[in-house]
Amino acid sequence: MKILVLNTGSSSVKFQVLDTNTQACLASGLIENIGSENGRLRAKHGDEKIERDFGQIDHKFALDAADKVLNEIGVAKGGYDGIGHRIVSGGEKFTESMLVTDDVVKGIEDCIELAPLHNPSHLVGIREALRLFPTTPQVVVFDTAFHQTMPEHAYMYAVPRKLYDEAHLRRYGAHGTSHRFVSAKTAEMLGRPLSEIAIVTAHLGNGCSCAAVVDGKCMDTTMGLTPLEGLIMGTRSGDIDPSVYSFLNKRYGWDISRINNMLNKDSGLLGISGLSNDMRTLVNASESGHEGAKLAIEMFAYRLAKLIAGMVVALGRKPDAIVFTGGIGENSIPPRMLTIKHLAGLGYKIDDAKNKIHGSATGGVITADDSPIAMIVPTNEELLIALDTEKVINSKK
Ligand code: AMP
Repeated sequence: MKILVLNTGSSSVKFQVLDTNTQACLASGLIENIGSENGRLRAKHGDEKIERDFGQIDHKFALDAADKVLNEIGVAKGGYDGIGHRIVSGGEKFTESMLVTDDVVKGIEDCIELAPLHNPSHLVGIREALRLFPTTPQVVVFDTAFHQTMPEHAYMYAVPRKLYDEAHLRRYGAHGTSHRFVSAKTAEMLGRPLSEIAIVTAHLGNGCSCAAVVDGKCMDTTMGLTPLEGLIMGTRSGDIDPSVYSFLNKRYGWDISRINNMLNKDSGLLGISGLSNDMRTLVNASESGHEGAKLAIEMFAYRLAKLIAGMVVALGRKPDAIVFTGGIGENSIPPRMLTIKHLAGLGYKIDDAKNKIHGSATGGVITADDSPIAMIVPTNEELLIALDTEKVINSKK
């Protein structure tokens, strides 16, 4: 099938057209700065790069621009067999990918409270896609669905039960599409059935999370009610004492939204280093002696190792592999090396040569021969969304 994958965010739309037979990406692009003055489109079609700059744009304009460019380069010719939408939160309602119906749209609306920045934009994406392609089947793929197999003792918070019963306050996780994709790929690379392996997957991009995956099912994950919990990320603090809210309120008079903003946007690698949220910049700066960058990378790796060790508890047995994926996990050598060093207590030993050689092209094992396995497995969330879209459409035929 030829599938158009859409990720409609609050200020951007990412699009990709994939052929599910060859698993090839036929074209991809990004429209940024929706809602501000300098809307722009960047797309790739083989070696061809397309750049367009607009003024003020909205989501409707962005989807039209994506459609137009895909028509111009010939990728849209003959239409699409399906459209797959990435949806950040499906709450407890959605445990698998679904065909878009009125009920499903209503379900996504009901989850807005859990993803107030994302779900409303996804709904705009669905609406605009229905306008552009009224007869093409549309499928929604949820970031949270993979984590719905977590046992109660992993997803509940230790707060009054009533808050779960009434307000659905619990841990939901995110990045489920990536964790699911790399779990299946890891099994393939290990040459073992997914239904027989226990792994810890670490998705390390701008957002970062780990998952404990046993026999293909998620048993725990490090993100919680929102993506703020867990690992240190580009601009998010990850785990922090919740008393920080009252502390900062008393000390500076900051209100909840200011503190939320600080923890989500000014913290993490950016906050510690005072320099950047980008691991590439930090690795370069640290090599030139920047103390903040050095500490940020060290804290990132230490927290990661600590939470990976916690995920091993959720596995209930020795991991068959610890898996690194995402922009940092696939490409950045020092954070992987430092993380594996912190896992010496569990017997892990890095192989520096392998850690340098392997990367996002093919992945591969990065630990020594006498160590338990840690490896790089490149993720491809868009491909999984396309494959799910195909599967859901076929199941309804
Ligand atoms: P993602 O959100 O998966 O696109 O990942 C973004 C993060 O990956 C940023 O911190 C980047 O600095 C990092 N990253 C991407 N490519 C590389 C690379 N070649 N070397 C080191 N870090 C990289």
